Amino acid sequence: MAFSRVDLLAVLAVLALIALITRASIASATRTDAQAICLDNLRELTRAWTAHAIDHEGALVSASQWTGGQWLSLPVSSPSEIDPYAPEGIASSPLWQYTGNQPQIWRCPEDTTTGSHPDYQNGAPAPRVRSYSMNGWVGGPAWAGQTGWKVYTKLDDFQVPGPSGTFILIGERPESINDGYFGVDMIGFKQGSPQNPQARIIDYPASYHSGGASISYMDGRAEVNVWKDPRTVPPPEFIFPLNVASPGNPDVYWLQYRTTRRVEQANALRFGSPRVMGEDFRAAARIQDGHDYDLEVSNDLVNWKKAGLIQSGEESEASVEMNINDNTTRQFFRARRRE
Ligand SMILES: [Zn+2]
Repeated sequence: MAFSRVDLLAVLAVLALIALITRASIASATRTDAQAICLDNLRELTRAWTAHAIDHEGALVSASQWTGGQWLSLPVSSPSEIDPYAPEGIASSPLWQYTGNQPQIWRCPEDTTTGSHPDYQNGAPAPRVRSYSMNGWVGGPAWAGQTGWKVYTKLDDFQVPGPSGTFILIGERPESINDGYFGVDMIGFKQGSPQNPQARIIDYPASYHSGGASISYMDGRAEVNVWKDPRTVPPPEFIFPLNVASPGNPDVYWLQYRTTRRVEQANALRFGSPRVMGEDFRAAARIQDGHDYDLEVSNDLVNWKKAGLIQSGEESEASVEMNINDNTTRQFFRARRRE
């Protein structure tokens, strides 16, 4: 099973709060193309989401709340769809104050959908305010009341598939986007079995960037994923029913893989909050799946250093000395299962 090890890999980002506060947004002068701007947008919004959670003892703003209540439609039916400052507009989002009050970061530059409303600028056409939605399993509620899959509600819930493997925000197709909740139906998901006969598309991802969507992850990075199945990227004249069967669609599997896991799997591996103490970097872990793990640390997700052994069935603590004054903004723990 190619996935058995990845599956139990947990990566925990330690987000340095000071870095979050002081790190200025990337200078717009260096932005050269729409995709780079879009990825910057997602990084900034995801950073805002993290900073908000840090300010609220780790509690997450949910997929159903992060937009401030706004709903998008085609054609536009409410001023909040084109006016950031309208009631229920994005300026009323709980994340707004963490974004530097920048309405432009809520839109992909390639999203050209516009609308008009008599209550905004005398009915002149204006761009819609938002192009992104949030993984519905982040903060929930669970899609369609599905049980058995983990709904992440706190920052330290992201143990499996881990911060680098769980998506937070995604560009959504303009005909599909409505509320801020991007629905992923977990029905039929089995790791290592991309051929899922029960696969469904709930909401359609965007395909603005070489046929792909911009997607951010809990560890703060953002990347474009290019869709493989034409059913994920219907032509513009397609009339968009949402929540449709898409059996065997590899893109659905790709999304499910990065969305959530079975509750018992997601809870089998628990880290306490890693702490930086001087140059000593510590984490406690509790593992209940009967296997031993090597604890590894890194500050770049590439160069991992072995930090200790975590034994199954008991609370274990491991620590490692790292240079934490080298301008890295975050460091990572992971537990690698011993084969
Ligand atoms: Zn984009």
